Amino acid sequence: MAEKEKNEWAEKLAYAPKNGYERLSAEEEQAMHAYCEDYKDFLDHGKTERLCVEHCIELASARGFVPYEKGMALKTGDKVYYNNRGKAIMLAVIGEQDLSHGANIGAAHTDAPRLDLKPNPMYEDSELAYFKTHYYGGVRKYQWVTIPLELRGTVVLTDGSVVDVCIGEGSEPKLVITDLLPHLGAEQSKKPLGEAIPGETLNILLGSRPLGDDEDSDRVKMQVLKRLYDKYGITEADFASAELETVPAVNATDIGLDASLIGAYGHDDRVCGFAALQALLDIGTPEKTAVCVLADKEEIGSMGVTGMQSAAFDTFMNDLCDSQNVALRVCYENAFCLSADVTAAYDPNFADVYEKRNASFLNHGVGLCKYTGARGKSGSSDA
Ligand code: MN
Repeated sequence: MAEKEKNEWAEKLAYAPKNGYERLSAEEEQAMHAYCEDYKDFLDHGKTERLCVEHCIELASARGFVPYEKGMALKTGDKVYYNNRGKAIMLAVIGEQDLSHGANIGAAHTDAPRLDLKPNPMYEDSELAYFKTHYYGGVRKYQWVTIPLELRGTVVLTDGSVVDVCIGEGSEPKLVITDLLPHLGAEQSKKPLGEAIPGETLNILLGSRPLGDDEDSDRVKMQVLKRLYDKYGITEADFASAELETVPAVNATDIGLDASLIGAYGHDDRVCGFAALQALLDIGTPEKTAVCVLADKEEIGSMGVTGMQSAAFDTFMNDLCDSQNVALRVCYENAFCLSADVTAAYDPNFADVYEKRNASFLNHGVGLCKYTGARGKSGSSDA
């Protein structure tokens, strides 16, 4: 076969992935950059699932979305959202067709691995004050030492009022978890990576400055408690009714000399959450009702009242269906859902954990993961 003929067949038959930059027009590239700036802003505003929900409500309200209330009459073009306990959110734009035709649903999760505080977290040891933490989700523990950390969350006081806590953002002092210096770390260095930093040593350093001169008391801890009281009016007992999360004190930033990548905390899965939300905000009036679900608790098994195992999503959809006298099952039968999360892109630095012929590649578009699971596809959806 002549070379020319072979090439013709190859062009017709062979799978030939192309780098996205070869496909982009100048206008598309400009739009992509603008989108990425908005995405970075979304990440910086949404460092916890609570902050994500708050920011989503701000963005959605600016585009005409209103809080959904049970029994509300809904008509084509109406835009509503349901705030599930401040930690998860569902939004919908009512379509031209009624819900018996189904709905288009985009779903993602906005919780991310982090270090939560234990219920009674504060202690002093050797004139240093610390928080004890309990990690949430799949953290690689060694990544959390020696990086600047900030504390975000809410505290419910004895009078029932809720205080938002934000410590270590912007120019404020940061928190940190210490590690060993090299010449004391010889034994630690011999341990497997997953054991070198045990979870019980992920204690956050809070301060070293004593309050008063009574050497027998927890005077460094008292100094920290006093500062918390001065700033937020919280006492040690209030930690029991708090939800405080430690996250990296670093904002999203461009990566690479060509600035072609974004480095940030919490891409998983806010990158899909942002895409699902942005699509809904930009949708206009769709043919089918469009729904965006930003779920909490995916990282720990989708449990709890704000996770996808709760009745929250079914109830929201049922409410929408009820407003049109449509049976939920009929809606579901005709619905389309894109449940999106992140996947790993091929990294030549760690080539042996990938199967290059079936890996996702940077700049090659959306990752399509046909199945997950282990061994014989155990736990896979085979979507
Ligand atoms: Mn995820």
